[in-house]
Amino acid sequence: MRLGRASALSDTGRRRLQNEDAFVCDPPLFAVADGMGGARAGEIASRLATAALEERAQGLQGADAVADLVREANARIYQHALDDPAAAGMGTTVTAVLVDEAEGAMSIAHVGDSRAYRLRGGELEQLTADHSLVAELLREGRLTEEEAKQHPHRSVITRALGTDAEVQVDTLRVDARPGDCYLLCSDGLTSMIRDGEILRVAAAAAGDPERMAAALVAAANRAGGEDNVTVIVFEIVEDEEPEAEAEATVAIAPDETGEPAAREDSERQPRSSVRRHGAGPGGRWLALAGVLGALAAAIALLWWGLGG
Ligand code: CA
Repeated sequence: MRLGRASALSDTGRRRLQNEDAFVCDPPLFAVADGMGGARAGEIASRLATAALEERAQGLQGADAVADLVREANARIYQHALDDPAAAGMGTTVTAVLVDEAEGAMSIAHVGDSRAYRLRGGELEQLTADHSLVAELLREGRLTEEEAKQHPHRSVITRALGTDAEVQVDTLRVDARPGDCYLLCSDGLTSMIRDGEILRVAAAAAGDPERMAAALVAAANRAGGEDNVTVIVFEIVEDEEPEAEAEATVAIAPDETGEPAAREDSERQPRSSVRRHGAGPGGRWLALAGVLGALAAAIALLWWGLGG
């Protein structure tokens, strides 16, 4: 498997004046942070968190490494709050996902109520467990789903980055398969629309991460947009053919419709060559070169056929 398309979108929503959410969309690392605090402190906290993640995203491997990075972010935010009285008490959630293509797995580190979901086989699964008051009451059986949705303290979180010198980070590792789609989001999405609606929007987007991200933000705003909303959507696809084989295919190119021009030949070619040629503004020239190449190959085959 490998990472396919990814799309991230953050919106202030309809009620708030500032956007205190922040995100990292730096494949193979993705993260959502939802800041809280007086004045602009929430914004500072979430941006400190994403900056700490981005700084050391390169070469990162495994859930423990991601969790270490989250703890590093915690220390930085906590120190910042000590240094700046105006930022005292600020904090942020963080849900970070690292895709390990070689292992076919995802490493997740998580604090707070921003979520990671997996869409597989038409079903939506919440991978992270919220660190929130209502989630804890729900887990203890002291609230029903319906009561949780209406609870006056449903935005209260029980764990955050930056509020204490130490933070407990949940880590998990899950397998990833081609066809999977992953969604990271702040509670501005999940407090506005339910999982069933997320699933409906995902189905309508037909697996296109950019469409899905835009449609989810739009749905949250249609439902009231009471909070900042941030979504990251990315897909896992089949691994491509090895580069050496893809290089060998010169006799194939998409025509204007994106279909392979030399249909008979295409059946013997790796799919990846079609995709590569189809991408980018040079597509037409590549198409022309491909058609000429196909002709040359056909003539050569004919020549050999007659000669041999
Ligand atoms: Ca929020």
